[in-house]
Amino acid sequence: MKKVIDGLPVMVNRKRIKNMYLYVKPPDGHLEISAPVRMPDARITEFVRTRKEWILKNQEKIASRNPVREPGFDEGEIHYLWGKPHKLRIVHGRRNFVKQVGREIIMVLKDPERADTEVRRKMMNEWYRGLLKERITERLPEIEKITGLRCSSWQVKNMKSRWGTCNTVTDKIWLNLQLARKDRICLDYVILHELAHTKVRNHGREFKNLMDLYMPQWREVRKHLNRAA
Ligand SMILES: [Zn+2]
Repeated sequence: MKKVIDGLPVMVNRKRIKNMYLYVKPPDGHLEISAPVRMPDARITEFVRTRKEWILKNQEKIASRNPVREPGFDEGEIHYLWGKPHKLRIVHGRRNFVKQVGREIIMVLKDPERADTEVRRKMMNEWYRGLLKERITERLPEIEKITGLRCSSWQVKNMKSRWGTCNTVTDKIWLNLQLARKDRICLDYVILHELAHTKVRNHGREFKNLMDLYMPQWREVRKHLNRAA
């Protein structure tokens, strides 16, 4: 549940736990609280208030480590597609859509004046989602074939703090739609990583052996994936 406490947006997760926990999370420094199921809202508000200074200090720390400037999706802005920078062009047209032409991403808008950042972000994300799905449809079966690993199904979703996840009970995997901004090898890496979880739940020796076997350079790819651009 999302709340705003003392001007700070906070994600409150109720859990079967005894104590309250506060996290300032990368890459954007957003706040998450894990609170016991029956903890009154007032206690949570108080909890945030008394720690505000600490929160702001840590948000600053994360911001300086990770300079994420929120894009406005304006003309001339640089956006990445498959690891390559593209210049965003805003064009007036009959209907809203996005396309790539050479090293430009063309965003066609029916009413550019009224299409605010949120509308544009959504269009961009849906475009990324389509491209990513196309690519996954090609690559996933290939990687499954090479490794003999198999997921039950997959889905693309916009995620804040992880590139992929695997439900180790159902073997379903989720892939972050922002992977369309990264080199294609990064997508292969995340697919392989999540497929490996269908066999090994943790990141221990057996898991690393699997990764080494099918992508010997996975450590470099992971580093590359977690770099800002
Ligand atoms: Zn993992």
